[in-house]
Amino acid sequence: MATLFTGIKQLLTFAGDAVPRAGEAMREIGLVKNAEVLVENGLIEAAGPRSVVSRHRLAKKARKVEVNGICLPGFVDSHTHAVFAEPRLKDFSMRAAGASYQEIKAAGGGILSSIGAVRRQSRRAMAEQLAARAAGFLACGTTTAEVKSGYGLSLESELKMLRAVREAQKLTPLEMLPTLLAAHSVPPEFSGDAAKYLAYVTAEILPKAAAEKLAVFADIFCEKGYFTPEQTTAYLKEAASLGLKPKVHSEQLSNYGGTRAGIAAGVLSADHADHVYAQDITAMREAGTIATLLPASNYYLGLTKYPPARELIAAGVPVALATDLNPGTCPCWNMQFVLSAACTHCGMTPEEAFCAATVNGAWALGIGDRVGSVVPGLQADLAFYKADDYRELCYYFGASQCSMTVKKGKIVHGGR
Ligand SMILES: [Zn+2]
Repeated sequence: MATLFTGIKQLLTFAGDAVPRAGEAMREIGLVKNAEVLVENGLIEAAGPRSVVSRHRLAKKARKVEVNGICLPGFVDSHTHAVFAEPRLKDFSMRAAGASYQEIKAAGGGILSSIGAVRRQSRRAMAEQLAARAAGFLACGTTTAEVKSGYGLSLESELKMLRAVREAQKLTPLEMLPTLLAAHSVPPEFSGDAAKYLAYVTAEILPKAAAEKLAVFADIFCEKGYFTPEQTTAYLKEAASLGLKPKVHSEQLSNYGGTRAGIAAGVLSADHADHVYAQDITAMREAGTIATLLPASNYYLGLTKYPPARELIAAGVPVALATDLNPGTCPCWNMQFVLSAACTHCGMTPEEAFCAATVNGAWALGIGDRVGSVVPGLQADLAFYKADDYRELCYYFGASQCSMTVKKGKIVHGGR
C-alpha cells in the first residue's frame, strides 16, 4: 500500500542531474512549498506540490501521514568510525584540564586505548553496540552511514569489526556501508615500522576482507608519522584491483600530499582537507574528486582552523559533509550539528550545507543514483523536522529537530 506524506511546509528535493553537485549547483535545493511525497514499495513514486501529487492515481487510496514540518532526503553520513568499544572519557577530562596529546598518550589514552578495547570486545557485543548507535543516527535524520574499521589493526580484529557491521545490519534499518581502514595507524607490535605493517595489511587483511566481501571501500590515513603519499597510492591501487573502492584521510594535520596520492589511485572522495593548497584543489576539480569536510571534529578539538569550504566550492570541487563520529576526535552522530558548524565556521550557506549532507554525501559513497535526493524512482529515505523553514536546522544547534525518519518507505523513528 502506498503512503502519502502530506502537510509538508517545505520540501527540499535536490532534483537535478545525477552527478555530484559543484559550484552554483550546490545551492539548488529544489525547494517546494506546501508539498507532498508519495511512496510505494520503498521507492518515491511522486514528490512535489500538493496540487500535483494529490492527483496521482495512487494518492487517493494511500495511507496518509500528516507531517506539519519540513522534509529532506535522509542524511547520508559518508565518513564515520561508528564501531568502537569504549568512549575516551578519561582523555576528554585530561584534555579539558589542559593535558597535551603526549601526556594523554603517556597515560595510556589515545588510539591505543581504543585498540585494546576493540581487541577485547566480542563480535556480538560490538554488533549490538553499533545497532544501538545506529538508532541515534536514525533519530537525527540520517538514513545511510559509511562505517570504518581501524581500531583493531590485526587480521583477526579488523575482520571482527567488519563482520560486526554485517551482523549489526540485521539489527537496524540504518543502511551501513563498511570500509576497511586497517591502514589507520601502526599498531604497537610493529614498533613504528609503517612499511612493514602496511605490507602485512596488504598481504593478509586486504585480500581476506575483499574475498569475504566485508567492505565496499578501503581507506588509509596519509599523514606524517602514519603512511606516506607513495604508500597511499600503492595501497589504494592494490585495494582497487581487489574490488574495494578507494578513499583517503588526507591533509588533516598538515599539507602532506595525501589528496593527490589518493587521486592517483582514483579515490571517490578525499576526506578532511583542512590543509589543502591550491594545487590539491586543482587536482580535485580535474579528477572530479569529492572533498568530504568534517567540521564537527575541528569543533570538538577546539581548533580555530576549519577546512576551506569557500575555496573548494569556488573552484568547482563538489563538497560533502559528514560527522566523522569516533571516540577520539569527534563523538557526534548528529548531522544537524555538522550543518551548523559548516555554516558558522566554514562559511557555507545553508543551501550548500544541505546539498553536501545529502546528495553529495551519497555521491561520496557512489550511491547518488539511489539515495540523497527526493525524486521519483529513488529509495524513499526521508527525514522530517519540526520547523517552518529549512534554515532552522542550521540556525538552532545542539538539539535534534527531527520528528520522523523514513527508510525505504518505512517509518523507523518517531511519527506519532
Ligand atoms: Zn576519519
